[in-house]
Amino acid sequence: MSIDVSPLARALEATPTPNLLVVTGAGISLASGIPTFRGPDPGAVWSESVMTLGTRAFFERDPVESWRWYTSRFGKLHDKLPNPGHRALVELEGWYRERGGPFLLVTQNIDGLHRRAGSQELVEVHGTADRVRCAREGCSFGAPDGSLPREAVDFASFVADPSPDTLPTCPGCGDLVRAHVLWFDETYDGHRDFGYDRVMEAAESFDLILFVGTSFSVGVTELLLHQALLRECPMFVIDPGEGPDLSRYTHYRSWPNVHEVKRFPPPRLTHLPAASEVVLPELCRALGVPARA
Ligand SMILES: [Zn+2]
Repeated sequence: MSIDVSPLARALEATPTPNLLVVTGAGISLASGIPTFRGPDPGAVWSESVMTLGTRAFFERDPVESWRWYTSRFGKLHDKLPNPGHRALVELEGWYRERGGPFLLVTQNIDGLHRRAGSQELVEVHGTADRVRCAREGCSFGAPDGSLPREAVDFASFVADPSPDTLPTCPGCGDLVRAHVLWFDETYDGHRDFGYDRVMEAAESFDLILFVGTSFSVGVTELLLHQALLRECPMFVIDPGEGPDLSRYTHYRSWPNVHEVKRFPPPRLTHLPAASEVVLPELCRALGVPARA
């Protein structure tokens, strides 16, 4: 199926160069062999148990089971490679920044594939699977700004024999280490690495937003979608699914006069219903962005 990328290409070529915000979700990593949480793909792992297992409360209750689950998940991410969608975003970023365009990529993925592909202006807003941190806040290897590469901690004994005695510990203070990801019962501002300040700043300043492979089910996409509608910014969605459900964005309360209810302006949304590993390289070709060797 061929998708017409020209409306998006024209929007990116506009002068003055718009402040571009790209937001990616699990859909972009599907072609790298990483199943989504919520998507319709056969490997989607979303279930009620994710909401239980992916919490700080669960880790505090049962760190062995929490780490057993994470080591099995992270172990599967280790050998995954960036796909043409990740690589096209690197090319797009280089081209865009050369033209003087402000560019930021915010990903919900913890697989590290954008970083591995070479994206520079990148916020991994849900953390990353290749780092861990001390569970004790205030430790230099813990929140609010400390973390460690996963290799710096011994996981071998735990993987061989998961038990309270083999749980990986912090080299600084001996407390347990935890996954360096945002859990469902935590807030985005819990760790500096999650870059939430940059996201908030971008939310106020973007002129053009491109959503790639996201199911619009997490807080950050909701916030950005809301901003795009309110500020009448052009939005593009690359995803084989349905695209965002805008039906609940009919009215909003104005600020600071919250008693005044206003109607959202009509959305400026263009949906390109195809896989990102096809559309993004196609977009680069349409823009004449040179492919990296
Ligand atoms: Zn520590």
